[in-house]
Amino acid sequence: MGVTGYSADTMGVISRSGFYLSRKVVVFTLVLLGALLLGVAALSSLYVRCTQASPVPSEKSNTLTRASLPFNLVPNKPLAEEKKKEVETSTTLTPDTQPSATLPSWFWDHPSLSTLGPQDHPSLSTPEPWDHPGLFASEPLDHSHLSASEPQLPLTSEPWKHPRLPSDVVPLHYDLELWIYLRPDQIQQTAKTFGGRLSITVQCVSPTARVLLHSLSLDYEGSRVLGPLPEGPEADSEQQPVGQVEVNNFWKFPEMEYVVMELNETLKPDRHYVLQFDYSGLVNQNRREGLFSNFYSDQGKKKALIASQLEPTAARAIFPGFDEPAMKATFNITIVHHPAYVALSNMPVLGTSEREDANGNKWIVTNFETTPPMSTYITAFAVCDYDYVNATERGKEVRIWARKDAIANGEANFALTIAGPVFSKLEDLFNVSYPLPKMDLIGFPILDLQAMENWGLITFDDLMLVEAKNDHPERKLMILTTVTHEVAHQWFGNLVTTKWWNDIWLNEGFATYFEYHTAKHFNPRISKFQNEFFYHYHMRIVFNEDHAMMYRTISSEVRNYTKTSEISGLFDKYIYQKGGCIIRMLSNFLSENLFISGLKTYLKTFAFSNAEQDDLWNHLQMALDNQTEVLLPASVKTIMDKWTHQAGYPVITLDMSTGRVNQEPFLLAYDKTQTSFIHNNTWNVPIVWMKNGIVQPLVWLDNSSQVFPEMQLSDPEHDWVLLNLNATGYYMVNYGQLGWKKISSMLQKDPKAIPTADRMKLFDDAFALAQQNYIDIGSALGLTKYLAKEEEAIVWNTVLTTLLQRQYFVNMNNHNIYSLFKKYFLKRLTPMWHIYSAKIRENALQDDELAILSLRNVYKAACWLELEDCLQLSREIFSKWMSDVESIKNFTLVANEVMCSGVAQGSEKEWDFLMNIYEKTALDGENNGIMESLSCSKHPRILYRYMEYALNDKLFSSEAPNIFKSVAETEIGRLVAKDFLIDNWQAVKERFGSPHLLILAESIARTTSTDSQVQELHRFFDNMLEEKERIKFNEYLQDKMDENLQNSKTVAQLAEWLKENMAD
Ligand SMILES: [Zn+2]
Repeated sequence: MGVTGYSADTMGVISRSGFYLSRKVVVFTLVLLGALLLGVAALSSLYVRCTQASPVPSEKSNTLTRASLPFNLVPNKPLAEEKKKEVETSTTLTPDTQPSATLPSWFWDHPSLSTLGPQDHPSLSTPEPWDHPGLFASEPLDHSHLSASEPQLPLTSEPWKHPRLPSDVVPLHYDLELWIYLRPDQIQQTAKTFGGRLSITVQCVSPTARVLLHSLSLDYEGSRVLGPLPEGPEADSEQQPVGQVEVNNFWKFPEMEYVVMELNETLKPDRHYVLQFDYSGLVNQNRREGLFSNFYSDQGKKKALIASQLEPTAARAIFPGFDEPAMKATFNITIVHHPAYVALSNMPVLGTSEREDANGNKWIVTNFETTPPMSTYITAFAVCDYDYVNATERGKEVRIWARKDAIANGEANFALTIAGPVFSKLEDLFNVSYPLPKMDLIGFPILDLQAMENWGLITFDDLMLVEAKNDHPERKLMILTTVTHEVAHQWFGNLVTTKWWNDIWLNEGFATYFEYHTAKHFNPRISKFQNEFFYHYHMRIVFNEDHAMMYRTISSEVRNYTKTSEISGLFDKYIYQKGGCIIRMLSNFLSENLFISGLKTYLKTFAFSNAEQDDLWNHLQMALDNQTEVLLPASVKTIMDKWTHQAGYPVITLDMSTGRVNQEPFLLAYDKTQTSFIHNNTWNVPIVWMKNGIVQPLVWLDNSSQVFPEMQLSDPEHDWVLLNLNATGYYMVNYGQLGWKKISSMLQKDPKAIPTADRMKLFDDAFALAQQNYIDIGSALGLTKYLAKEEEAIVWNTVLTTLLQRQYFVNMNNHNIYSLFKKYFLKRLTPMWHIYSAKIRENALQDDELAILSLRNVYKAACWLELEDCLQLSREIFSKWMSDVESIKNFTLVANEVMCSGVAQGSEKEWDFLMNIYEKTALDGENNGIMESLSCSKHPRILYRYMEYALNDKLFSSEAPNIFKSVAETEIGRLVAKDFLIDNWQAVKERFGSPHLLILAESIARTTSTDSQVQELHRFFDNMLEEKERIKFNEYLQDKMDENLQNSKTVAQLAEWLKENMAD
């Protein structure tokens, strides 16, 4: 998963109730300490600002943006969870969401310990051993690993300034009670705060008189420390009196999200103590972090729910604790809630009871069973008015929870049919039982990420869990892969957890890898095209951006993170996609059997505990050492560390006339020209390869250069080789001029001799190598000659997204290249178009996921190249839609493309029809496609009127700036937008402000390539823009001109090649 974390920036200064003092401390001490801490806070924040560095430096890269026309150049489906939805700008947990007067009063009266029964505070007696089915090598709560290999923290007298918790006290068990005040009759007022009380049983590891815990935006009403708890034979006696350790000081250090307990005496090593807190917190209204609310409609009523999202560091906003992944403990969770709601958590319900508040209102108290030892970030809480469907899998209940309407309509049924079997599949594969007694999967109307793997209570954005009737055909695939990803986390992440966030790829890389590995058992087409799916959804996404100067490695050093936001920033495509790719390569060269047998012992050894990268390498090495079939040129660690610790990847170049292969780090053209960059990195490169269609034994390239005689072509007329078969290796192959020609003619002769995933990768590699000046553009374009024989839409998708790049077709005047392009590609695209257009007409694509995910780009390309049948089909579907509004539902796959093409070919009648649809659906948030399609008109008058609407009509209030941009980014719209601005710039500026005017100016100026154009744009915009925007605009103009000049060289080469090869 991925989540925007809380950062020190959002914390503000120490809150009004920021200091909790024990009764013994006099007031003037508080004042002195407060002043001191404010000073510390100011210095600390200064330090943070000075040292903060983004873990992913912004790079010039070939990443393309979604707004590109004429082609959608980004992958269609944001499968990995880190693809966040639009996140509203937020004022996280601001003071104006204070408890309202109507909230039930709740006062914890600090009952004396002797009056507590064992059920209230089970932690005070010896914790019950957890039932771990057949797993155990170690005691469940063995924290010895914490001190053994953790980095030595610098000794400091002020540990609260250190971003890692000291290890002198570790948690064993939490007794947590949350009181969720939400009431169905007052959802808005009661969804703002919650109450908490907590007892944490801790073990003292080394003597200390100070305990630090994470805490974020919590207000404390009381705290105390009990202990040491009885030990030895006395421990079983519940009547044994327990002492109390006086708390001298209890104060917050918000900059590092800590509370600090200063004790009157030193805690004794190896003894257990109980920390108790009574507090309240805020329910996040703007972001889905910590405890958050969702307001939604169900069964015709407005409803609300409250739930949690904690990874990586938001658990501390719900309860004070040891909020680091290695600080595992068991949890007894209790949720107090209104009788109208159901409460869910990681474990099954143990029992319920009733409680009355001071106002006489009745509440339900739901107690959950004790969890196994687990990290704080995968605890989960939900209070909602939901229904579920259920099934039993190997004796355990599986439930899919969703809005009542969705359940009644059967929308959760697909998820239910796969969820249980996915668990069983992974249990069998790893030979490790899923250790919890139940599994709940719940979909929320709004979550800021796709899903989160909380143990036993997996949360989803409901788009990833339920499918409505007539849903997009790829919805099932998204649900299937999201469910398999999250279920894989129940082992990789939840059972075995990364020791610290620097190795978070161990969680996410494995979950990514097992998405398709597991999904293939539930869909025969995924099984057949597993390599293609993996390449499309994971490998090319990161590969297209990654290079040796990226400064981003999969596994980072155990750094002392200075800000929580740095941890959130780690959840990017390098841990998900690249992590998954590296694991796939590893599994491939080890052989799957060996790989899985290494994973089995890894999971068993570190179950309920934590691991780091080296632990994984060790277990794979052990599996390797136990057999003789697979041999590696070096240890697993030696090989793999290079892939996880070095940025980028190698490009290996094969000289087919000699069999010599060499490797060098892949660099962007700009970096290659900088002689100051010396980059001698090498990798151990596993080369799976094929000669004349026959798979050859794996070879290893260990040095920078090596000769493989078997790769030399003895008969250059007929022989051919293909390296990196099935795109399993995370590297690029350059075949040299001779080799690329060879592959091109091989493709023309028999395209299917080369596997589909390899055809996709060949295009990507060749064009990336051409773009960065490794090879000439002609070598790459030669691959397109065979395309009339290409029947797989997904290969076409790769070609189109690679070739029809924004910088050539949107950012430049493209008249010349367009007509050449049209002539060359139409005759190649037409055969494939006819295969799929027939299926679109018959709505017969439902089960062809591979085509489904590619067809939009193919459709868009065909209509953009004015393929008559595409234009005709769009007119047909559009006019049918105008007479029967429901009919578009049969064409959801290409609806956006039909809308755009229909409007482009139509007149005011078609535009007004679509506008009418937009108005009707404006409130349901699903009109992005319509808004963009309205700008596809070719009539300047209509586009001008559209911009007038955007400026004046309230309907467009939030969309208006996007409308301007979308009009200005079309070829005709660019000039219309310019005219519109001449007439209306004052009104545009007043309504949207100078920054939006700048965005519009940049869209209009994007094709600039001459000095006179620059001067004209200066004259045009200078009096419109504010000083600050004017400076930015001038810089933009200069950069754009340079870039377009550079691109025009490529376009000229492209045009030249097309002319020369037109007849082929
Ligand atoms: Zn994940």
